[in-house]
Amino acid sequence: MTSVPLLDLKAQYAAIRDEVRAAVDAVLESQHFILGPVVDQFETACARAIGVRHAIGVSSGTDALLVALMAEGIGPGDEVITSPYTFFASAGSIARLGARPVFVDIDPVTYCLQPGQVAARVNVHTKAIMPVHLYGQLADMAPLRALAAERGLAIVEDAAQAIGAARDGRQAGGWGGYGCFSFFPSKNLGGAGDGGLVTTDDDERAGRVRILRMHGMEPKYYHRIVGGNFRLDALQAAVLLAKLPHLEAWTNRRQANAARYDRLFRDAGLAAPAGPLGLPVAGAGRHVFNQYVIRVPRRDALMAFLKARQIGCEVYYPLALHMQACFAALGYREGEFPESERAARETLAIPIYPELTDVQAGAVVDAIRTFFAGAG
Ligand SMILES: *Cc1c(COP(=O)(O)O)cnc(C)c1O
Repeated sequence: MTSVPLLDLKAQYAAIRDEVRAAVDAVLESQHFILGPVVDQFETACARAIGVRHAIGVSSGTDALLVALMAEGIGPGDEVITSPYTFFASAGSIARLGARPVFVDIDPVTYCLQPGQVAARVNVHTKAIMPVHLYGQLADMAPLRALAAERGLAIVEDAAQAIGAARDGRQAGGWGGYGCFSFFPSKNLGGAGDGGLVTTDDDERAGRVRILRMHGMEPKYYHRIVGGNFRLDALQAAVLLAKLPHLEAWTNRRQANAARYDRLFRDAGLAAPAGPLGLPVAGAGRHVFNQYVIRVPRRDALMAFLKARQIGCEVYYPLALHMQACFAALGYREGEFPESERAARETLAIPIYPELTDVQAGAVVDAIRTFFAGAG
């Protein structure tokens, strides 16, 4: 029996060990650990790769969202519209500033915000829209961008899962407000710990993020605003800078793996509408497949079946954010966002990492086929 992990970071590291070690060693030899030349170099490389004027390294994807919202001056009394079907940090960063996360339902095909529903929820308290480019695919940004311009709102893209993704000729993080990226190890570009990035084309916004990243300090030991310690450290930047040149090839492998699953599931008669599985739809633009997520009846039974056969899989995310205990005071009810709730019940991520082999992908498909053949 072939066991397949959901993600195999050791396989990736084995291919780049020497480059990463040399980069880490150079930082250790320099003993320059906080910001400095390696962080600068990484920021410049990211700005170029993403196609934006500014890229600012920060301590995590969560802190990227938080510091972007802080730079926009968002706080008590303000509303930020986002998705209830995402990792907690999207809404958590809004709530931590005393602002209100206003949820709207997702598109059932892309799992991203529906622009029409966003427009319906804008009011005088709305300060920003936070689209989440879930699983590696961009939200429908053109109408959101037009809406933001018309109503004077900031766009804070949660691009944590979408580095390198694009739509309508623009990359994730390049839509005119802030782009917030994560380098959590399971993201498409992962560090050796926590890290994040804020992108923007706006010089003033970039300046505010840089100052907020260092306790609002400008000049040294003088503070006109309250910031925090949101710095990316040099060791993380060194690892990420060594890995960045490989990102395109890894992304291409993820896409090839997705295409192979599509083919294998169709050939096995498992793909909807004839079969039980809803396959991910790479709609408009470039999907970078941070996750390959299928929609499946009896999801929990299939998950248990796969795990028993050592096939990695995971539910992202089992409880929509409007149903989380910590947001009870927001007053949302079950049934309010039916597509988000249905996605939480029906979706399952299966292994898509770049180093996945033919044999491993075949084992995943065989296990799912066996489940639906009646063994499950
Ligand atoms: C990973 C992730 C984050 C948070 O990033 P961290 O680096 O773990 O803080 C935020 N939003 C989404 C959608 C994510 O997937």
